[in-house]
Amino acid sequence: MVIVYGTRNNIKIKKNLGVNICPNCGMTTEKVLAAEKQQFTLFYIPIFSHTLRKGLICPNCGMYKTLTNAEFKEMSMN
Ligand SMILES: [Zn+2]
Repeated sequence: MVIVYGTRNNIKIKKNLGVNICPNCGMTTEKVLAAEKQQFTLFYIPIFSHTLRKGLICPNCGMYKTLTNAEFKEMSMN
């Protein structure tokens, strides 16, 4: 029997924090609070996932600024 096993990463957008200029690409984009999750799949069915990182993401260039749990919590409540 062949076991088909894999992983895939999902980015979950938690909150849109409004317009911001990205320090990496210099574009005026929306500042997005997001959590990246890694999902483990067995026969293409997700079995479990865990959070890889939480932070701010630039939708234009994909730059990721990792935040600590405390910072993330604070920003998602504002
Ligand atoms: Zn950018």
